[in-house]
Amino acid sequence: MVRMTEQRRVIYEILSREAWHPTVDELFLEAKKSLPRISQATVYRNIEALIQDDLATKIVGLNGPARFEKTKAPHAHFECRSCGAIKDIFIDTECINSIMDNKEIQQCATETIVVKLLGLCQVCRETNI
Ligand SMILES: [Zn+2]
Ligand SMILES: [Zn+2]
Repeated sequence: MVRMTEQRRVIYEILSREAWHPTVDELFLEAKKSLPRISQATVYRNIEALIQDDLATKIVGLNGPARFEKTKAPHAHFECRSCGAIKDIFIDTECINSIMDNKEIQQCATETIVVKLLGLCQVCRETNI
């Protein structure tokens, strides 16, 4: 385990909360509750360091500001088109492997697979009826 500063540990703990994919702004607001003097630049620097150590992942391909999460097993993201909520969807690795078997994909230097599902989350479905 990489040695962590107090700031980095606090940020990692915030990221580790279940089902949360915060933006830098959201991380900053949460971090301030435990570290009132932390700056946004410090939050940014620490999140970059966590990414370097493969403890955090930046979620790519979403609209709006970048979001982050604790590094987990490969999974897909469901994004609600109404409220913007993001939900982790753990799909069968067989399914990912079958995508990687594709000849055209093998011809390219594929580095990562981003699976994104769009629709209405359960809360919005229930309130939009
Ligand atoms: Zn929603
Ligand atoms: Zn996720």
